[in-house]
Amino acid sequence: MSRIAYVNGRYIRHADAGVSIDDRAFLFADGIYEVIEIFDGKLIDEAGHLARLERSARELRLTLPLAQGVLKLVLRELAARNRVTDGHVYLQVTRGAARRDHFFPKPGTPATFVAFAHRSDRAAAEAKARAGIKVISLPDIRWKRPDIKTTSLLPNVLAKQQAREAGAYEAWLVDADGYVTEGASSNAWIVDGQGALVTHPADSAILSGITRARLFQIAAAQGLALVERPFTLEEAFSAGEAFISGATTLVMPVVAIDGRTIGSGAPGPVSLGLRAAFHDYAPASG
Ligand code: PLP
Repeated sequence: MSRIAYVNGRYIRHADAGVSIDDRAFLFADGIYEVIEIFDGKLIDEAGHLARLERSARELRLTLPLAQGVLKLVLRELAARNRVTDGHVYLQVTRGAARRDHFFPKPGTPATFVAFAHRSDRAAAEAKARAGIKVISLPDIRWKRPDIKTTSLLPNVLAKQQAREAGAYEAWLVDADGYVTEGASSNAWIVDGQGALVTHPADSAILSGITRARLFQIAAAQGLALVERPFTLEEAFSAGEAFISGATTLVMPVVAIDGRTIGSGAPGPVSLGLRAAFHDYAPASG
């Protein structure tokens, strides 16, 4: 079965899909995106992801080319055509194709809309969560608006690759004051000495994760205290537990940071408890 993508109004074989070399995202990373989990054939926390897409579009003064109702139909059609019951759907909107010039293209230039879906291996993800992941720390060298989900991800890409080459899965980014902002592709959390969850406030220094927001609700339901405040690497080294969150990783326990063991060196009960509860709370739309 060949994979099917959606490009500017057409379903097309993934291998044949493409956009112009004049596309603003190709030339300037002038685009935004979302990644939504598909679990048991349903889209998880779709409303939150689409609300964030609208916010990203507003922040970049970009007009979304599809009404939300149509967009939702496209995402479902992609899941169906690609027979994805467990996986993700990726969607990207760019400022369109225009002769290369930093100024915005002339009004009326159609935005580019691309989406595709892919499968993920649920058993492999659960095995990874049982083992836990390793993290390295790196300076946060991103631009000052990582709260907007743009395709401008070069520092994130370099950080992820450096993590992989160091035998880790994620890089935690540390700001000029020594605080961990977030991961290169996830939000960062620790569990402090009192058992409270600690994560960076959702200000302009981090992406306000949809998974992160859902975990606030689950933490409250589980009676866990939660504090939104920056934390340092030193605090993380001595935390009882640490984990990352995101639509592709859900809650993924961290067992080592910069080669230093976190907690017992195995995924802890708080992280695993949040992970286990996630799909009981996150709204699933079919
Ligand atoms: N932070 C960054 C930099 C990310 O790239 C992501 C997800 O891709 C997240 C946080 C987590 O966001 P979400 O939970 O909405 O997937």
